Amino acid sequence: MSSISAGQLLSHLERLTQERERPLLAAGLASALHDILGAERVTILKLSQTPLESFVWPAVVVDGDGAHVRDDGISIPADMVSVESFERIQAYLENGTQRPGDGLFPLLKSSGACFGFVDIEGCTIDEAQIEIACRLQAIFMNMLALLDYSEVDTLTGLLNRKTFDDYLLRILSSLSSGDDARLKSLHLPQRRHPPPDGLAHWLAVIDIDHFKRVNDNFGHLIGDEVLLLVATMMANSFRSHDKLFRFGGEEFIVLLKPNTEDDARRIFDRFRAGIGAREFPQVGRVTVSIGYAAIRLDDESSVILDNADNALYWAKEHGRNQVASHAALLAAGQLEDKRSSSEMELF
Ligand code: GH3
Ligand code: MG
Ligand code: MG
Repeated sequence: MSSISAGQLLSHLERLTQERERPLLAAGLASALHDILGAERVTILKLSQTPLESFVWPAVVVDGDGAHVRDDGISIPADMVSVESFERIQAYLENGTQRPGDGLFPLLKSSGACFGFVDIEGCTIDEAQIEIACRLQAIFMNMLALLDYSEVDTLTGLLNRKTFDDYLLRILSSLSSGDDARLKSLHLPQRRHPPPDGLAHWLAVIDIDHFKRVNDNFGHLIGDEVLLLVATMMANSFRSHDKLFRFGGEEFIVLLKPNTEDDARRIFDRFRAGIGAREFPQVGRVTVSIGYAAIRLDDESSVILDNADNALYWAKEHGRNQVASHAALLAAGQLEDKRSSSEMELF
């Protein structure tokens, strides 16, 4: 173990506990382990498990050249690989042993579910090292739990409104060349992943139809029950890289990972149809209307939200229980292009 003073140790702890963004928090943990254990390299691997296959990818790597944040939590990482190429990880996931060993430590949620690993390379891992790694990991997990708590809506467990602006800015940042002043403050990784041609991120606003009637007819508690069920269906319907928010009362937002416009429509319509087909306890049928718009770098975040909101408004005005695309409504002359009309006013 490298000799490290109490001051250096405390300075790592201070840095770790001041981070408010997940990628930087993970970088803080990896840097602390790298310096304190005198490791050659520390990697934080994230794990995504589906019933068919499990993938891991490096979220943060700290080596002699410093910390490299590889995953901004928004883009789909380019270097996802099947756990089949990692014998120790695969064995751990299959056998559920307490610890994979050899400097590889699982990251576990309070439910016991594994969401990643810390891989420490290039130093001897004795009992004392293990103790230090486990303590630092525990501090990291406490910080993650605090972050989760501050970002989550208490009724539905979805992300809250306060967090929405930050995520939308992160997506805009992933599209930009990195010199946009409004994005710089986020300190995001320099390596960006703009979506391939033809694909875009999408913002959808989902609003429960005639929800006031649910409250009026069945009471607020049953109304809350409906909100919780809709949120649960969102969590089951969308994928892990899609970000789901409760935006206010009976209004939800999805930030959809890159897709073609056709796929985005299909995904939103599948969710709408799923809600419409479900029998809600006591209430019976509930429907939702959805408006969506592309997330383009040249638009202010408020414009993107307005575009989706205008499409939603159109869906409400034209019968509800449907999905409306801002771009399609513009093309059909059903909505006015706010950007071009304000530019025209300027000249
Ligand atoms: P529309 O189809 O046009 O969206 O009609 P609506 O009735 O859903 O919309 P409106 O905006 O008129 O009413 C929304 C209702 O949502 C009013 C309010 O009582 C209810 N609401 C807002 N927040 C909550 C909540 O946290 N719990 C419950 N139970 N109801 C809520
Ligand atoms: Mg409503
Ligand atoms: Mg509403």
